[in-house]
Amino acid sequence: MGRMVEMRTEPKKKVVFIMGTAHCGSTLLTLVLGGHSDCLSLGEISNLPDFYRRNKPICSVCEGECSLWDQKFSDQDLQALVHGFSDRRVHRFIPLKVEKQVRRLLRADSVFNPYSLIASKVEESVLIDSTKTVWWLQKRLAAREFNENLSPYLIHLIRDGRAVMNSYSRRKQYQGLTSQQFGEQFGTLWKNRVTNENNFFDSFSGKKIRLRYEEFATNSEAITQRLCNWLEIEFQPDMLSYWKHQHHTISGNKGTRASVQRYQNDAQSNRNVGIKLNQKWQQRLSAEQIAAFYQVTDGMNKNYEW
Ligand SMILES: [Zn+2]
Repeated sequence: MGRMVEMRTEPKKKVVFIMGTAHCGSTLLTLVLGGHSDCLSLGEISNLPDFYRRNKPICSVCEGECSLWDQKFSDQDLQALVHGFSDRRVHRFIPLKVEKQVRRLLRADSVFNPYSLIASKVEESVLIDSTKTVWWLQKRLAAREFNENLSPYLIHLIRDGRAVMNSYSRRKQYQGLTSQQFGEQFGTLWKNRVTNENNFFDSFSGKKIRLRYEEFATNSEAITQRLCNWLEIEFQPDMLSYWKHQHHTISGNKGTRASVQRYQNDAQSNRNVGIKLNQKWQQRLSAEQIAAFYQVTDGMNKNYEW
């Protein structure tokens, strides 16, 4: 006689999607959440296929041999993730749609359910994806895994458009423009992105929360507690010291990542690090740039001003 097997249904693992514009402070949020013992921050997982194909280290913190991506995932696993996170075809003569059906018939589950594959390899029950774009969210949430074994959570991270504008002003493509041109070009981009995000947020039927970067950066403890309640995990005060924890995130803000790297190398060198609100735009943006931005966005930033 076989022994009785006690059936127990595992609680669903969670995938938290951070949505927001570039430079909205998502790296900080990603690392704070990733400092929780039950959360694993993936970073911008959308970059995994590209990094893998170019032979670039997957982990942007370790920048080399990594105890997560190199040790817990075989090359076969990584290849499944590369296919799962991209739409690139395996064979150019088979139409993608047919190929997907064939692979489905072959039960190539890991290819279609990349987050489930990651979840099966790690102990943490919450995965954080900070890819941020609506395009990515729409594509990923359509996967079967979100109807079956995973629960999606959505954080819409918003930030004063002027702070975002300041970060964009350093990009190559905007060099040499007049204040008016830059304000208009950035404003059009920002308005479209934020409008898309708001529409997506409204249509998302799962658990969702809207969060202001500035509130998070100035009132970190209370906001992090609120996020933990929302995620149904216990608040751990230590997660606020994000630089003290191991992280294996993909991409993200260099400066924020650097504070983690410095601490891992020398715990003494990093005593001044902490969560601070960055308002450099106040010194760096000109009145003309801001005026052009407000003009082209019809004052939409009024709701986001800090
Ligand atoms: Zn790593």
